[in-house]
Amino acid sequence: MSNKFNIEKEQDGDVLKLNLSGVIDEDSDLSDLLFPDHKGKLIINLKEVKRINSCGVREWVNAMETISEMEIELINCSTAIVNQINMVSNFSGNGKVTSFMAPYYCESCDAEFEIALEVDKNFPDRDYPVAPSYNCPKCKNTLEFDDIEDKYFLFIKRE
Ligand SMILES: [Zn+2]
Repeated sequence: MSNKFNIEKEQDGDVLKLNLSGVIDEDSDLSDLLFPDHKGKLIINLKEVKRINSCGVREWVNAMETISEMEIELINCSTAIVNQINMVSNFSGNGKVTSFMAPYYCESCDAEFEIALEVDKNFPDRDYPVAPSYNCPKCKNTLEFDDIEDKYFLFIKRE
């Protein structure tokens, strides 16, 4: 997977979906995120965003402010994005985080997995977010959540 930042657009009726990938930094052109004329909903898929540095965060927050009038959904937020959402209070702007990637680990296989979680479906009690339990696709043992729940799921309490 290339580190070069890219935005791929998919228009589906009133819904505009943007698939972001690569690294968000000072060289990333976020102008394709800005659709002041778009009247429908904007879905931003962040699954393939590998990294974002401090310049990238600044650019991103500015972009989200510019489009704050729009209905925005952030989906499949990568672990790099979830960490920023938790650290930077206005990172998601007016966007609603509906799904995100969560790190899991299998001790017997010594393997890491990323599992897509949905805020509404997997976290019925938002005040006490608990990592849902999954089994290893290879050995069927229970996977361990590979981060600190209180830290990683902080944004769920805030939403
Ligand atoms: Zn396993």
